[in-house]
Amino acid sequence: MKVLIAGAGIGGFTAALCCLHHGHEVVLFEQANELSQVGAGIQVSPNAMKVFQALGIADAIAERGFRPEAIETRMGESGLTLFKIPLVARAKREWGAPYLHIHRADYVAALAQALLTQAPDAIRLGRSVAGYSQSDTSVSIRFDDGTEEEGDVIIGADGIHSRIREQMFGPGEPRFTGNIAWRAVVPASLLERDRPNATACAWMGKGKHAVTYYLRNGELVNFVGVVERDDWQREGWQERGSKEELQNDFAGWHPAIRELINSADDQELFRWALFDRSPLPGWTDGRVALLGDAAHSMLPFLAQGAAMAVEDAWVLARALSEGVSVSSALIDYQGQRLPRTSKVQSASRSNMTTFHQRTLSGRLRTYGPMWLGGRLAPQVVNARMNWLYGYDVTSRA
Ligand code: FAD
Repeated sequence: MKVLIAGAGIGGFTAALCCLHHGHEVVLFEQANELSQVGAGIQVSPNAMKVFQALGIADAIAERGFRPEAIETRMGESGLTLFKIPLVARAKREWGAPYLHIHRADYVAALAQALLTQAPDAIRLGRSVAGYSQSDTSVSIRFDDGTEEEGDVIIGADGIHSRIREQMFGPGEPRFTGNIAWRAVVPASLLERDRPNATACAWMGKGKHAVTYYLRNGELVNFVGVVERDDWQREGWQERGSKEELQNDFAGWHPAIRELINSADDQELFRWALFDRSPLPGWTDGRVALLGDAAHSMLPFLAQGAAMAVEDAWVLARALSEGVSVSSALIDYQGQRLPRTSKVQSASRSNMTTFHQRTLSGRLRTYGPMWLGGRLAPQVVNARMNWLYGYDVTSRA
């Protein structure tokens, strides 16, 4: 079967690798002229790593990643630790794979290298997908330059502004969530007095939160700050923000956060508005299916958007190798994935309320039990992530 994939992000690359693994031919079309990713980190949780284990490329990814000591939640101003879930031995033992942080460029480079080793001609750069057409027996992907390529199935892995999705369902209505996000990557060597712990750390605050973690053998610290604000609403990854504005957003926070912000390069501080999209009625149209952010973009408050794309990729490739027809295989894929991605989407959304408690009573009600649970019943707190990280999409059980 010839699988045409629109978009060479984490979802598109993993879909290509999973399709090859299941015996299909693949061609991956990317609009950009070169493979590039924003300068930021990403967390790769054990549920995603299990797909890479099944593909035989987990070590190639892990060797470019950083293994955090724990998942930690702290109060933004005081730095008080609410709870800490140890990861080093636990992730592999209880969830079946390591938990990693990795620079996005290193992640995509590892995926691209694996794909090129197996299928040297599979990647086509500078190919901007405009849409598709199909018959009972084949499907064609159409490019902006007017050319077409024919295959048996199309996977729309073209991200949050997917044109494949637009053809299926129209432009859609992104809703501003009332949050803006900041991102920066800071060399750890610049942090002289206070450094974040070597954990995946979420810092809670009134109407805002931050996430810190290390990349590249601990050489870099990744910072993401999310602030409830409605004075600015542009949805892009590449808009620069001013350091003064970021300092104001996190004024009075723990010294580790303030030092991180003060040490960031002014030219490398970016911000963007966070939008939410209503769930789609479905992800397929005959021989065409959506995957990753194109199908189910989600708020980044559970660090699972790319992990869901990775899980999708395995299920879609497996369904294609087992279905009686392409369209029934794609419907089967959607049926297997929708309940899980919907649950993760809604858990991500509800983390916004958890992370941003504004009132004293809300903070006591939300963080009090976390703090107590972390001390009196850590095993119960630890087990709260089993449904997410313990999931193994490559196993049928
Ligand atoms: P994308 O990464 O958007 O890739 C789409 C690709 O398609 C791009 O290469 C694009 O150039 C290409 N493309 C687009 N249109 C066309 C076209 N017309 N023709 C050809 N090519 C096209 N997820 C996690 O799992 N862990 C995390 O820690 C995490 N942290 C996050 C932090 C933040 C602040 C944010 C905003 C998101 C985070 N996510 C995280 C989510 C994650 O980044 C996304 O879910 C993931 O990148 C989606 O991958 P994708 O391949 O579906 O789409």
